[in-house]
Amino acid sequence: MASLADEARAAARSFAPELVAWRRDLHRHPEPGFGEFRTARIVSERLRALGLDVRIAEEAMDGEAVHHRHADRIGAASERAIASGVDSALVERMYNGGTAVVADLTGGDGPVVGFRFDMDALPIVESSDPEHRPVAEGFRSSVEGEMHACGHDGHVAMGLGVASVLARLRDQLGGTVRFVFQPAEEGAMGGAAAITARGLVDDIDHLVCVHLGLGAQTGTFVTRAYFLATAKYRVSFTGQGAHVVNSPQSGRNALLAAASASLALHSIAPHGDGWFSLNVGVLRAGDEQGVTPPWATMELGFWADRTDVYDYVDARVHQAIAGVSRAYDVGHKVVRIGGAPAADQDEGLARVAGEAALATDGVERLEDGISGRAGEDANVFLARVAERGGRGIYVLIGSDLADGHHSPRFDFDERSLVTGTAVLSALACELIGEGS
Ligand SMILES: [Zn+2]
Repeated sequence: MASLADEARAAARSFAPELVAWRRDLHRHPEPGFGEFRTARIVSERLRALGLDVRIAEEAMDGEAVHHRHADRIGAASERAIASGVDSALVERMYNGGTAVVADLTGGDGPVVGFRFDMDALPIVESSDPEHRPVAEGFRSSVEGEMHACGHDGHVAMGLGVASVLARLRDQLGGTVRFVFQPAEEGAMGGAAAITARGLVDDIDHLVCVHLGLGAQTGTFVTRAYFLATAKYRVSFTGQGAHVVNSPQSGRNALLAAASASLALHSIAPHGDGWFSLNVGVLRAGDEQGVTPPWATMELGFWADRTDVYDYVDARVHQAIAGVSRAYDVGHKVVRIGGAPAADQDEGLARVAGEAALATDGVERLEDGISGRAGEDANVFLARVAERGGRGIYVLIGSDLADGHHSPRFDFDERSLVTGTAVLSALACELIGEGS
């Protein structure tokens, strides 16, 4: 008799046409972080139809924990969602309460397995080259300036696939599978923090976060991919305008404070125990040449490969901004607009995932311990689950890419959708299947 995990693998293969169709539909309708109205509607309706207990909007996330939202992109997305037929009351509810969807498939009262899938697109104009497959096969983005250029359309499709597979096997599941469809992964603007603030990952025993590609080829399964700790800040300096000829002595120069702060930030010494990179990427100040600049705004980000190095840089950033502000006698306000910690991952869970993957058609090789040179909002979940005594990993479903992530010509190998769905479904069965 086939094992439950093998039944799951076979069921996953039977969903191959749906997986591609879901992915292509989502690809044609990309939505920005916290503007995933149509996507969240599709996800929540599908999961309800499968019999899951579904939470959306304010039930699934706490808007107070969001660091930052791009209001223009979200507003445009809400209008498109309504025009495409999403109920306007639902759009309004998600506009206010958020676009997260968290759903439980409950079998027995055994352990809770969580899967994280992200849903957001990027502010990129998709290539219109006829050779670009989404153009050739008719699923290019229908929204100029929004594009699924990281594969999150594939993640949502796999999430729906895993839910479809496991719903069929529900009677044989000895625990709960929690599907976390998170908004706004890009920029770490607080999508994960907002779901975490609702307590929705606190009882997860085994958390598996997922990404397609990221350098892993089709046929490879990566059991642990590590990401950097990161923070993004917006800093406002407030000085005093004054006529620069008549009364320059009464001015307080916010522009010079911001410029000096930029130099001070880029002068933070390297750390001997790890690596970091810092960038002041935005600097704006002043209104006119005859007046001491009374205001300046700066945005900066930094990335570090260890928590202690992150803490070191973070402390130095705040010191430098406060010190320079004092020197120029200007006010300053620092607002965190994004960020995620570094997070450990569990070796035992990685081993179980690797075994489940290798037993799946389409997986030929395993890798472990890849480091991604980027921040990842999933680390907020991984850190919280570990803090609560659970364990977590961030896995990569290998996929050959047409071009790099976040490029206008990005596309992935759609065979990875079935492989990913099969591996994750089988892994859930191994972790909470009958008798375990
Ligand atoms: Zn991504």
